[in-house]
Parts: sequence; C-alpha cells; structure tokens
Amino acid sequence: AYLDRIGAVDGAVHAFLHVAGDAAVAQAEEVDRRIAAGEKLGPLAGVPVAVKDILTTKGMPTTAASKILSGWLPPYDATVVLRLRDAGLVVLGKTNMDEFAMGSSTEYSAYGPTRNPWDLGRIPGGSGGGSAAAVAAREAPLAIGTDTGGSIRQPGAVTGTVGAKPTYGGVSRYGLIAFSSSLDQAGPVTRTVLDAALLHEVIGGHDPCDSTSIDAPVPAVAEAARRGASGDLTGVKVGVVREFAAAEGAEPGVVAAFDAAVATLTKLGAEVVEVSCPHFEYALPAYYLIAPSECSSNLARFDGVRYGLRSGDDGTRALEEVMSLTREAGFGPEVKRRIMLGTYALSAGYYDAYYGQAQKVRTLVTRDFTAAFEQVDVLAAPTTPFVAFPFGSRTADPTAMYLADLYTIPSNLYGGPAISVPCGLSEGLPVGLQIMAPTMADDRMYRVAAALE
Ligand code: GLN
Repeated sequence: AYLDRIGAVDGAVHAFLHVAGDAAVAQAEEVDRRIAAGEKLGPLAGVPVAVKDILTTKGMPTTAASKILSGWLPPYDATVVLRLRDAGLVVLGKTNMDEFAMGSSTEYSAYGPTRNPWDLGRIPGGSGGGSAAAVAAREAPLAIGTDTGGSIRQPGAVTGTVGAKPTYGGVSRYGLIAFSSSLDQAGPVTRTVLDAALLHEVIGGHDPCDSTSIDAPVPAVAEAARRGASGDLTGVKVGVVREFAAAEGAEPGVVAAFDAAVATLTKLGAEVVEVSCPHFEYALPAYYLIAPSECSSNLARFDGVRYGLRSGDDGTRALEEVMSLTREAGFGPEVKRRIMLGTYALSAGYYDAYYGQAQKVRTLVTRDFTAAFEQVDVLAAPTTPFVAFPFGSRTADPTAMYLADLYTIPSNLYGGPAISVPCGLSEGLPVGLQIMAPTMADDRMYRVAAALE
C-alpha cells in the first residue's frame, strides 16, 4: 500500500531519492517468515520506514543528495539501519535532503528539492525535508532523520509531523555519513509522539562501533509517551527561555501558536516559569564555525578515489588534478561554501580567533542549559521562527537560510534531547513546538510532548 502511495504522489512531492520496491516487498515477506517461525519481534515489526539518504544501506544507493556519491553502493548497513531490519521494520527507500545535510529547505539537494505536501510551492524544511514530507504525505508511516543543527525538528515543524533528536550519543552514528561529528544525531520522524518513542527504542542504545555512543540503557521513552498521553502534567516544571522569546524575526503567527501551547501546558497542570540562557545569541554564530570546521575535515574523504564520482581521470592527469576536478564537479555551492569557511576557521592564523572562540561559546551555552535544568524539568520554545517559506525566498542570502535553526541549534551545542510536535497553524501552515530536556532525560520530553497531542 505504501509503495502504491509513493507511486501516486511522489512525482509531485519528491520525498524519495530511491524507492526500494521489490527489495522492500522481499524484506516484508522475510519478516512474515520470521514471525511464522516463532521469532519474537518488537511492536514495530512489519512496519515500513523511510531512511534519510545520509545513512548507509548495504547494496542500496546512498548519495547524501550529492553528485559526488552518485553510483556508490555501500558495502554495509549503518547501525541504525541494521537495528531497523533486526526489529523487522521494512526499509521503503531513501529520502531526499540538502546535500550532506547542509541546509534548511532541501533546495540544496543535487537531485532537486522536495515539496511540502501542505503547499507544493513551499519548502518542507531541511535538511531532512524528504523524511518529513514522506510522513506528512502518508508515503511512509515512519522515517529516520538526522539532526546536526535542527534537521529533524525544523522539517517536522513545517510539515506538521513529530521529529525527535535524541541525546547526543544515544543513537549510534556508525554509518551516518559525517557532517559535523560532535553534533550529528539520528532520530525518528513520525506522525505521533508514541510512534517516535517506539522507533527511538528500536534504534537507540550502545554501539561499540561508535566511540561517542553512550554505554547506558535507552531511557524508557515509550512508557513516558504513554504516561504523557493521559494529559496530566502535574508536578512538571517547564521553562520558557527569555532570550528565545525575545529573539527578532519570529513570525507573529508562530509566536501566537507558541503562546497558546504554553497556555495549554499550564492547563494540563505544568508549572511554567521564565528562565534565562544569556549566551543564546551567540549559539547560531558559534554553530556556523564549528559545523563547517568539522565538515571541512570530514568531507576530505571524498577524493574521487574511494567512493562514487571520479572526474577527469583520462590517464594524463595527476592525482591532485583528478581530485580537484572531482570535487569541483561533485560538490554543490553550499557544501563548497562550508568547506571553505571551515578550512579558513581552522587555519593556523585564525584558529584561536574563530574555531577556538566558538568552542568557548559552546561551553557557555552548555553552562546556560545546565543552570536552566537546575530550575526546570524541560524547556519549551518554538521549533523554528517561521512557517514553511516559498521556494527561492532564502537561497540568495545564506544567513537568511541559517536563521531557520535559531531555536534548534542550542540543544545540539549542548547535546541534550529535543523534540518538535505540531502546535497549531499559522496562515494555514503547521507550527511546531519544541521541548528540550537534559542529556539522557529523553523520557521527560516525550512525556510532555505526548500530553500536548
Ligand atoms: N540547517 C542547519 C545547517 O545547514 C542544520 C542542518 C542539520 O541539522 N543537518 O547546518
């Protein structure tokens, strides 16, 4: 049924870069055989799932929406994908995204943008716009995204879906093509908070293949989501960050929907207080030094020798020239911008002034969060300052695009979990509410988010 649905609507939406087709059917039949043989599979066995094209899938195209990986077939599954398969979930295909997860609209995909099912003239968010649009358009009941600065939550907000970024280290990054290793985190994209929690339990947990993976049990997030669904938040203390609320540029309709959600939290019994994160205004600039710096190092592996595309190798050219021609042809403009920015920020003469400073800001933001969580259980904020915008309206000015992640980036710098849940409409388009929690307290955010559904 989902393959039929994809066939019917994906021509218009373009959520998928690759549809697994027969391979998905074969996998579903295999799940049936496992169940018939008496194997005890989890609650999501047999449920189809769409996977962002930045996670490796064995023998299935994986491009990170870049020309430089066209034609590459990974020899292994990412740990997230392996866990999906082990639990009996069926991989429907690979979803579109901004190239190497750099962007907020999917307009930087080398294979054309994804369109927002709510309005095909508008962006579905990014970088994980394909995963969010697939769920919003009912092309997949569940999807996997990745979030470095907001790429699960912001697409969730603008497509009216649920997007959760687990605690950094809570889900393995093995097989997640690295953009910014200290920030990247995979997580669920779903229709409901409980679905997100169930999917989180499938993909989460320690993995020896990822040195930053946390060696502790996955928080009991599904139980927390079920508890939250009762709608009782008595005893829960929610903080609204003063500086988030005062930030310029948030659309009035987004602020109104957020205020209404905060009123609902109070009605459900939560105590809402104001807290302060004084270094909030420096989080976005710090991110745009740290993320490009790590990207400039991580993307050095795309050299035209090891993976995918190779350009200009006609037998007469030196290796360096082939490398340079391959990168010239294979990387899009935003990726090139980030590599240059990061290389500059890391260079000997400027390291202390840029990268070093940004790391200090990261520490200050982390201290702000730690102090805030001494006063409250969770923090609430709008997910993104604006609803889905029309194509082309933010591509001319990179900093206008970067603002989409104003509210999501702080929790990536801090490392704590954060979830976006739909909280109403503004001008007929979805608005998202973000709930942030302390590291490894993912259960708290699921409880509060579920109460709002
Ligand atoms: N939009 C942000 C960026 O371009 C975040 C991307 C992400 O989370 N992968 O870097």
